[in-house]
Amino acid sequence: MEQIIKNQRIFFNNNNTKPLSFRISALKKLKQLLQENEGTLDNAIYKDFKKSSFDNYTNELSLLYKDIDEATNNLKKWAAIKKAPTNLINFPSKSYIIPEPLGVTLIIGAWNYPYQLSFAPAIASIAAGNTVVLKPSELPINTSNAIANLVNENFDSSFFKVIEGGIPETTALLNQKFDKIFFTGSVPVGKIVYQAAAKNLTPVTLELGGKSPTIITANCNLKITVKRLIWAKYLNAGQTCIAPDYVYIHETIKEDFLNECKKEIESSKYSFENENYVQIIDDKNYNRLVNLIDKEKIFLGGKHDSHTRYIEPTILENVKDDDEIMKDEIFGPILPIISYTDLSVIITKIKERPKPLSCYVFTNDAKTKKRILNEISFGSGGINEAIMQISNSHLPFGGVGESGIGSYHGESGFKTFSHYKSILEKPNWLELSLKYFPHTLRKLKLIKFIMKL
Ligand code: NAD
Repeated sequence: MEQIIKNQRIFFNNNNTKPLSFRISALKKLKQLLQENEGTLDNAIYKDFKKSSFDNYTNELSLLYKDIDEATNNLKKWAAIKKAPTNLINFPSKSYIIPEPLGVTLIIGAWNYPYQLSFAPAIASIAAGNTVVLKPSELPINTSNAIANLVNENFDSSFFKVIEGGIPETTALLNQKFDKIFFTGSVPVGKIVYQAAAKNLTPVTLELGGKSPTIITANCNLKITVKRLIWAKYLNAGQTCIAPDYVYIHETIKEDFLNECKKEIESSKYSFENENYVQIIDDKNYNRLVNLIDKEKIFLGGKHDSHTRYIEPTILENVKDDDEIMKDEIFGPILPIISYTDLSVIITKIKERPKPLSCYVFTNDAKTKKRILNEISFGSGGINEAIMQISNSHLPFGGVGESGIGSYHGESGFKTFSHYKSILEKPNWLELSLKYFPHTLRKLKLIKFIMKL
């Protein structure tokens, strides 16, 4: 590990990653490798949690191809030196900002979208001109192996290296000095990463989780609301960081809403056979989720099978804010429904919890929309839509407060892995004596006058 990081530092310090041509050819090579190995990548993720090739393409690989295309097409613009205005006190200088890579970067991935969450930050880091050590999640072991094989067999380890492993390996990595750590995962582990990074004053991006609320008002378009909500909740069997975690539904439409949800879930025919549903990732998460199903409150679903780690799409009704299911992020196919009458009350409740990664509002009322956007702080979200904000790379993606620090996707990913070096450049043909000794009253008056301009 130490040797790899040492070699990456030498590789970086020798300016190998600086030319844009180097970065673009590395990104193009990565895209080609991903495309050539789609079959292997499909098989690995299916073995791990029965994720279909349809889902693997639509919510993992296609996003990576798009990321690479966007980076290669825009790199010249993103990496260009940016002119900045110069103030009068510095006349006759010019000012500019140089985006520069940070150096040796560490990326730690989560398991739920294993290709996306490993490669998307790596793409941003490579585009910005860094070297990369990537540690994918160890839970989907076949996927982790496939990522390691694809990278380690095709890239120089002094530039891009995958190190596999769990807690011991990640802990060992965190004991090394990096120039940037990009972590995707849970809030508790995010705190461990942040503390480890602090020892070396290493900057971090933390893409964490939390309970993302959905608010549905009385005047929403119920049919479309339910269709979009149910798709977003049960995609990846609810194992999505920005999935709607729980729903506040207006009391007056609760019955209609629940019936519509039932119809939508039944007609979606979620199953492994239909390749539109996945397994719970492991026994630990399966048991945790099964324990969250309060039998008294089941409106729909609730069946589960430990052999296949299957949990039926489940809806719990009459849930209270202090129920067990409302304590931590659910991260599975269980949707608690809480009815409300007064918007102010639920806004206050949401604000009392840690700031969520996402928030979704389904409404036709412009005032309500405006009020929620103005009053509730969250990472990213949707109005009359859920999850899809992630698919627009022009929107920076990240959390706020306990749901994370920093953001990426598109140009924001490039910025996350760059330092913006500010330069003031002065010619020698003019030298004003204002700042130099002696400090006379006349000079002070003149300085005060200039500072006001
Ligand atoms: P996790 O925190 O358990 O693991 C994430 C990574 O940290 C893994 O690579 C793992 O090997 C490593 N790790 C685990 N324990 C560690 C320890 N004690 N010391 C050092 N490293 C350790 O998270 P997870 O179960 O893989 O993912 C689920 C969580 O991630 C959820 O909270 C979800 O919301 C969040 N998530 C966030 C995003 C996002 O973009 N914001 C995306 C996906 C998942």
